[in-house]
Amino acid sequence: MPGAELVAEGWILPGLVDAHTHPGAETPGQPLDVAVLEEDLRAHLNAGVTLIRAPGLAGDPPDWFGQADDNPRAFHAGPWIAQHGQFMPGWGVRPELAELPIIAAEQAARTGWAKVVIDWLPDDDVMPVEVLREAVDRVHAVGGRLAVHSQQAAGGSVAVAAGVDSVEHGMGLDLDLLPRMAEQGIALTPTLSVITASLAKIVADPERARKSWYVHGASAHARLTAAAVEAGVVVLAGTDSRPHGGIAEEVRALVAAGVSPHQALAAASWSARSYLGLPGLVEGGPADAVVFEEDPRTDLDQLGAPQAVIVRGKRVR
Ligand SMILES: [Zn+2]
Repeated sequence: MPGAELVAEGWILPGLVDAHTHPGAETPGQPLDVAVLEEDLRAHLNAGVTLIRAPGLAGDPPDWFGQADDNPRAFHAGPWIAQHGQFMPGWGVRPELAELPIIAAEQAARTGWAKVVIDWLPDDDVMPVEVLREAVDRVHAVGGRLAVHSQQAAGGSVAVAAGVDSVEHGMGLDLDLLPRMAEQGIALTPTLSVITASLAKIVADPERARKSWYVHGASAHARLTAAAVEAGVVVLAGTDSRPHGGIAEEVRALVAAGVSPHQALAAASWSARSYLGLPGLVEGGPADAVVFEEDPRTDLDQLGAPQAVIVRGKRVR
């Protein structure tokens, strides 16, 4: 670009994306805390993340969220929408099933996304497919998209049958559904690093209730993730919980699962941007970028130390 100023030299990528993160609360169930939110967003920026999607927030974010100069861009789905008796106590809303599609559409009309928790623990009811299908239709009718939390095989089947836009976690998802997800453009955010980390803790705890469900699903999750990429499903990198700024760990987990470094980076950069509707490094596109000293595909350690992070044309690291 004529007259441009040199900011950094090295390997430039479209800014990284964390497609599943819930900044702003220290522990599950706590209300949104603006100081914690600022700290979490800073952690994302330092990790090279210039765009986040928050599929569920502990409260309404302040106006500057996703807008301010020193903030990653952000999409969010407001509070989680769950069934009675399910999900984290203190977080989310639990409308009657008859009202749920309307609540989801109202949320999507406000922020572009709604997030529905369609299953929870093994003995809990999975959301009826008709309810979810109506929610999808209503959300789409207002131009929004719908993401679902699923960690049960039956939930995954309901999600795909209802035609949601993204399956979050997807633990236990039937591999036979992957071609249909690819065909319909249903994305998968496996949150692989956080599920793998929980697996290690749960395996070490012999008294843990519902251990067999989690161990079974989490042990197969890396294989499922790699199979999804192979089947052509849009896979998005997402880190879920605190500490924030762990996108490098998720890329590493994808590579450890057998995803190529190029595709794992795509899941945390250009293909996630494209799925969320933002262009990459093209003329006239948003100036969101991250620069590494060496090619991160041949040296994943580069991801932990970006040379420069640029959002909205301004260097923020
Ligand atoms: Zn989550």
